Amino acid sequence: MRALVFDGSQPRFTKTHPEPEPASGEALIRPLRMGICSTDLEICRGYMGFEGVLGHEFVGVVEQVNERRKSPLVGKRVVGRINCVCRKCDMCRGGLPEHCRDRTVLGIAGRDGCFADRFTLPAANLLEVPDSLDDDGAVFTEPLAAAYQILKQLHIEGRPFVTVLGDGRLGLLCAQVMTRLNATVRVVGKHPQKLALCEKWGVKHRLLEEVGLRADQDVVVDCTGSAQGLKVAMQMVRPRGRIVLKTTVAPGSSGTPGSPGTPGSEPVDLSPLVIHEIQLLGSRCGPFPDALAALVAEQVDVVSLISRRMKLADGVEALKAAKRKDVIKVLLEP
Ligand SMILES: [Zn+2]
Ligand SMILES: [Zn+2]
Repeated sequence: MRALVFDGSQPRFTKTHPEPEPASGEALIRPLRMGICSTDLEICRGYMGFEGVLGHEFVGVVEQVNERRKSPLVGKRVVGRINCVCRKCDMCRGGLPEHCRDRTVLGIAGRDGCFADRFTLPAANLLEVPDSLDDDGAVFTEPLAAAYQILKQLHIEGRPFVTVLGDGRLGLLCAQVMTRLNATVRVVGKHPQKLALCEKWGVKHRLLEEVGLRADQDVVVDCTGSAQGLKVAMQMVRPRGRIVLKTTVAPGSSGTPGSPGTPGSEPVDLSPLVIHEIQLLGSRCGPFPDALAALVAEQVDVVSLISRRMKLADGVEALKAAKRKDVIKVLLEP
């Protein structure tokens, strides 16, 4: 079958990838739309040491389920949680399956991803998509869930000042979700044409070069996708404030904390965290039902984020396009 594969040195499109076989309890899925996210781009720079079929954002149709009785999911349009868990380890049994010690993650760790003609996921990971939500909306469920995770983690008191740092794919989703809090939310970014979307949504926004780094924000959400984002966040947040870190970068990327890295990179000095008693909160995958419900209710505008639609066969070009500064979301179609 056709697939977009990262071979350890570069992404390439192949027509001869082996057909996946669903294991017991797994579904075989044919994707209808796929989304390229920054994680895919980082994987192509060595993040997670992953090799195999790329991709974890999808909406697709279930072709079969490897179960003894016929699954009601067959033929249904679904989205799916990307962490595939053991259900046996201490994390799984303690109610934190996303942190399963034995997990595989779709297109990120130990499991082929969705940028292919077909792929597999445990049937238990799948959620049916209501007919009222089209493929363009549904494909955003996974990244939007990651934005909703912030609401699960942050307990807000009073009416805090929140800065979403970064005006890329994830930043613009986080900004829309954060405005649901009782908070004063602004997006700080580097790209006027991306910030213009905030204007459309009625979300406050500023260019990074225009804001003073005054250590006056109660919460800063780093969605920059750059290790330097944390450095800026530490200058923006008030003493005893909180930084939510959404950025993941490949080791050796410019400015990775503690990494000797590539020439010209400088490690980020973490001492401001200590001096100003700042709380640093890592944040990864989030609740699919919340994201799906918000998309169905049209509480979040994702269509405006779609910059390009490209074919799976042009996947290598699509990954390049997703890196461009003027591009937000690139969707792949079969
Ligand atoms: Zn993603
Ligand atoms: Zn487990």
